[in-house]
Amino acid sequence: MTDRSLGFPLDLGPSWLHGGAGNPLKAFATNAGISTQVTNYSNLRFVNGSSGQRQEIPPSQLLGYSRRIDKSMNSTWLWIRMRARILLSGENLSVADVLNAAVKDAEDSNGPIDRGVVALQKWVLESNLAAPLEEISASALLDESDTGDQDDSLPADDRYLVAGMDSLVKVFAQNLDIRYGETVREIQWRPGSVSVASSSGDWKSDFAVVTLPVGVLRGGDVHFEPALPGSFTSSLSRLRMGLLNKVCLTFPEAFWDARLDFLTFYTDPPPLCYAWLNLALYNGAPALVGFTSGSAARQVEEMSDDAIVSNIMQRIRNRDGIAGPDNRRIPDPVQVRISRWGNDPFSRGSYSFPGLGGSGSDRDGLAIPVENTLFFAGEATHRDDPASVHGAWWSGQRAARQIQALA
Ligand SMILES: Cc1cc2nc3c(=O)[nH]c(=O)nc-3n(C[C@H](O)[C@H](O)[C@H](O)COP(=O)(O)OP(=O)(O)OC[C@H]3O[C@@H](n4cnc5c(N)ncnc54)[C@H](O)[C@@H]3O)c2cc1C
Repeated sequence: MTDRSLGFPLDLGPSWLHGGAGNPLKAFATNAGISTQVTNYSNLRFVNGSSGQRQEIPPSQLLGYSRRIDKSMNSTWLWIRMRARILLSGENLSVADVLNAAVKDAEDSNGPIDRGVVALQKWVLESNLAAPLEEISASALLDESDTGDQDDSLPADDRYLVAGMDSLVKVFAQNLDIRYGETVREIQWRPGSVSVASSSGDWKSDFAVVTLPVGVLRGGDVHFEPALPGSFTSSLSRLRMGLLNKVCLTFPEAFWDARLDFLTFYTDPPPLCYAWLNLALYNGAPALVGFTSGSAARQVEEMSDDAIVSNIMQRIRNRDGIAGPDNRRIPDPVQVRISRWGNDPFSRGSYSFPGLGGSGSDRDGLAIPVENTLFFAGEATHRDDPASVHGAWWSGQRAARQIQALA
């Protein structure tokens, strides 16, 4: 979903190739001559504006705090306690439960951690997992990425596609017969035979690879005849569609420190967007891209562009650290683009997350072929790397292998 209406490529959906060297799309982009830029997540400014203060926390101190929380979240001792709680009380633990316990452990052993930093850490998790942490099953944290390189608290080699994610998609799409604008309404199937009814007619085949997002599958927008088996729908019922939205504002000129990758801040009550990507560093455009997730992203879905911009500009002009202490120079934005993935009928959310009571095995449940005729793929079906472009890519390869194996 690369928008070019502002005069530069703006990805309203994915913009980074995540993970370590194991992400196959990185080599693919390099070989195709697509330019990428590594994001330096520690090249940021963080201002804690909570409780009426305005305290800038230097990146080294911020990272020190984050590492302490991360270390404590990954500790075996914490997980033994969490598992014991599940076994003894039958509780469905959420990611929020784990984070709170981890912060307490880190503070017990090493002294207090700034509340603004804890809020930022919570926000980072909410952005990655795309939902309020209280709604996400703790088991989400146990499924590890397949691409490696995740030992530190910050990704080392996240590559931003400067020319837009569609530049990569266009390479994949070369020489393929893709029909755009076809809305699928019904999939009729029996073992070895599928008929897909779309807006332009019926398509018949021996197999189908179905990559409909979890939001669309759960919403019942596509009717399966006969209905999908109970094992599939039971796994599907424990997966939810999360929300991560982007707010892009362009200005007459960059009034912020344009050498930074990110400008981040925390206020009470929490802002709609905690973190802003400085696009000027990537493509020279005087633009900021704000990220909003969890309950703030749900709020954004219901608000008009004007209401969102006025809310954000009020915060920016008060005490957010984007311009530094000199807030008088902040002009109004010239152009605005805002994603609302929850309102998109072809997505109904951004990407999937395991709801309370769910686990990674629900993703495996979606990946089991139905009568060797329907093969499900897409990010939600990849247990180790869901919510990513490369996870979706791998899931498609898996479906292709499953079909090949039948020959
Ligand atoms: C804001 C945002 C930021 C993200 N950032 C990153 C990032 O930086 N890096 C990263 O790796 N991942 C990122 N992701 C996640 C990544 O975009 C997804 O994991 C990935 O796109 C999932 O691919 P998919 O093929 O499973 O689903 P999708 O890309 O959602 O594809 C599903 C397709 O099905 C189509 N469809 C739906 N209903 C119908 C119908 N009835 N008939 C016909 N077609 C239909 C849709 O139009 C769509 O084309 C981000 C996602 C969002 C929303």
